[in-house]
Amino acid sequence: MFEKHCPVCGMDVKKETAIKRFGKYFCSEEHAGRFTQQETERKAKEPRGGGCC
Ligand SMILES: [Zn+2]
Repeated sequence: MFEKHCPVCGMDVKKETAIKRFGKYFCSEEHAGRFTQQETERKAKEPRGGGCC
């Protein structure tokens, strides 16, 4: 059974209409784009190399 939720708004996502990005399913192209933007910004903030400590 297909059961996914949009990580942006938490809405149920239907298989037929889901937008898949980063292995996640989104309710709409808009939310997929928003998540992509957040991911890009988050990665940009990470220190180069991404080391710990
Ligand atoms: Zn959504």
